Amino acid sequence: MKYAVIDRGDPLSKSLAEKFHALVAEHDFKRNEEAPEMVISIGGDGTLLQAFHTYVDQITDVAFVGIHTGHLGFYADWQADELEELVAVMTKESPRIVRYPLAEIELETPAESRHYLSLNEFTIKGVDGTLVAQININDEMFEMFRGDGIVISTPSGSTAYNKSLGGAVVHPSIDCLQIAEIASINNRVYRTLGSSVLLPQHHHCDILSKKEQRIQLTIDHVSIMRTDIQSIRCSVSSRKVSFARYRPFTFWNRVREAFLGYDAK
Ligand code: NAP
Repeated sequence: MKYAVIDRGDPLSKSLAEKFHALVAEHDFKRNEEAPEMVISIGGDGTLLQAFHTYVDQITDVAFVGIHTGHLGFYADWQADELEELVAVMTKESPRIVRYPLAEIELETPAESRHYLSLNEFTIKGVDGTLVAQININDEMFEMFRGDGIVISTPSGSTAYNKSLGGAVVHPSIDCLQIAEIASINNRVYRTLGSSVLLPQHHHCDILSKKEQRIQLTIDHVSIMRTDIQSIRCSVSSRKVSFARYRPFTFWNRVREAFLGYDAK
């Protein structure tokens, strides 16, 4: 098994990474940062986002396992004190591979067209003032948006930024994207639906910039600023992210533990 480890950089995560390398050295595990089959993320959900973007270009060839060194994560399902148990099971058993949908955007500028994938969400915000954009769904005008911004989240990202905006929590077995508004202005000219919208896999949405404006685009934890964006096409990607499960880690238990505070065990 070719593997790589990405840790958050704090002393506990770093020491667990070293311990992981030492424990698997006795087995048929080969450290390979360039082309791993398994990526172990040690830290939190933010660390898993980093790991995802490190290997985004080879995302269909990689499976992720998350160990959390803080609170329970949505992507990190093993605790720091379970490292030995995880290694024991990893070296003996084949995991169940669970695949989650990803969001894809295609950015159009006069000079180029660029594609990005996100695991949690994309956000589009105005930098100097409100964002002014027309939103089309399946090539037909849907609404004229004016406000702070728009968040397009994946099902697994629905518990992150999207949830803070009152968006629905969506099970990752549903292939869709959720479009949520950040502080939209509603009047006769600019009118938005006001509630978040779920787009199925076979639909797409275009966000067309309606004025010369500096736009801040975030792709999970990565932020980009551009002045030349003409349009952004959003869709459910045909690619998915894979997680290696060595024991059950149900989505609704995670939601309950993270937000309601009841322990599933
Ligand atoms: P951060 O600001 O350091 O942390 C954001 C928080 O979101 C962390 O507690 C992180 O968990 C948690 N998180 C990440 N993915 C999650 C998921 N799928 N479900 C539930 N919680 C999740 O930023 P970061 O660590 O670089 O993460 C970037 C993410 O921050 C973005 O993708 C966005 O979703 C989120 N964000 C949220 C808001 C908001 O809610 N108002 C605003 C901006 C960004 P860990 O502590 O385990 O890493």
